[in-house]
Amino acid sequence: MADENQQTPQAQLERLAQTFAQETEQVSSASGVASLADAEKRLAALKDLRVKFVGKKSELASLKKMIGRIPAESRSAFGQSVQQSEALFVRTLDDAEQSLNAYIQSARSARESLDVTLPGRRPRQGHLHPITLMRQRIEDIFVSLGYAVEDDREIETDFYNFDALNIPEGHPARDPQDTFYTTDGFALRSQTSTVQIHAMQRRGAPVRMIAPGRVFRRDTPDPTHNPMFYQVEGLCVDRGITMAHLKGTLAEFVHRLFGPETRTRFRPSYFPFTEPSAEVDYSCFSCGGPGCRICKWSGWIELGGSGMVHPNVLRAANIDPEEFTGFAFGLGIDRTCARIYQLDDIRLLFENDVRFLEQFR
Ligand SMILES: [Zn+2]
Repeated sequence: MADENQQTPQAQLERLAQTFAQETEQVSSASGVASLADAEKRLAALKDLRVKFVGKKSELASLKKMIGRIPAESRSAFGQSVQQSEALFVRTLDDAEQSLNAYIQSARSARESLDVTLPGRRPRQGHLHPITLMRQRIEDIFVSLGYAVEDDREIETDFYNFDALNIPEGHPARDPQDTFYTTDGFALRSQTSTVQIHAMQRRGAPVRMIAPGRVFRRDTPDPTHNPMFYQVEGLCVDRGITMAHLKGTLAEFVHRLFGPETRTRFRPSYFPFTEPSAEVDYSCFSCGGPGCRICKWSGWIELGGSGMVHPNVLRAANIDPEEFTGFAFGLGIDRTCARIYQLDDIRLLFENDVRFLEQFR
C-alpha cells in the first residue's frame, strides 16, 4: 500500500501545504523575473498550479470531501485547517498573478515607449514604373501637339467594344476565345478605341485626343504577350483631315520620342474601324537602318496600326462623315517600353520585382 493512504488526513494536509510552498516558490516572486518572456512563462505555469492545488480535482478538494468522515472530536479543527490552507493557497496564487501582471504591463509599455533622441529611419524612396514613365513621355508629346488626354471605363458594352467600332456580329474579334466577357453584353475592353467613341459622343467634332490605358485579350502569357497590356490610341477629327495629317503627326511623334533622324514607313493593312488602314514602322533607334538585334536585323520597328476613321465609326458617335473626316492610330506602351529598354520578356514589366524595376528610375 502507498504511504499516502496510511497518512492521517491531517498529515496529508500538512504535506500538501509543504508541496504547495515548494512549487509556488519558483513562479510566485516577480523579483527574480529575468525578462518579459520569462514573466509570461511564469504566468502560464501559475495557471497550471491553480488547477493542481485549488482545482475541482485537486488533492485539497478531496480532503474537503473527507471532513464529514473525520471523528467528531477532531472534525471541526480539521475543517478549519482545510479552510485556512485553501485561503492561503488562493491568496498566494492571486498575489503572484497580480505582481507578474504588473511586471508584464510595465515591461510592455517600456518597450513601446519612444526614444525621441534616436535618429529616424529614412523610408526607401520609390519611383515610377517604367510603363508609367513611358506613358508620360507619350502624353507629353501629344499634349504639346494640342491633344487632350482621355480615360474611360475598362468594362464596356458590346456597343462600345464592337458595334460602334464597325466590328459586326460574327466578326472573329468578338470571339469569346479572344475577349474576356463578364456578364451578358459586357466585356473587358480589348482596345482603348472605345474611349474615342465616348469622347466623340461627349464633345462632338472637332476633337483631338489620346487615350492611354489598359486593355485585355485572352492571350496566354509568353515573352511577347500578356492578357493585360497598355495601349495608347489617338484620334483627330476635323474638317478636311487627310492621310497626310496622319503621316505628319506620327512622323513628328517618333522624331520627338526617338530623335529627329527617325524615319517612318506606312504599310497597307486592314482594321474594321479605319479605311484605308496602315501599319506604321519607324527606323530603328539603335542602328538607324543597317539592322541590329533590337530591330531583328530589318532596320525597322513596328509602332502600331493607323488609318482614316471609318465613316460608320463617325456615324456611331453621331458625327456626320460628309462634313468631318479623321485619322486614328494606336500603339502598345509596354511593347515600346520593352523595345527601348531591350527587354527580352515583356512579362518582366508586370511581375513587380523591385530588383528589376529599380533599374528604370
Ligand atoms: Zn536596329
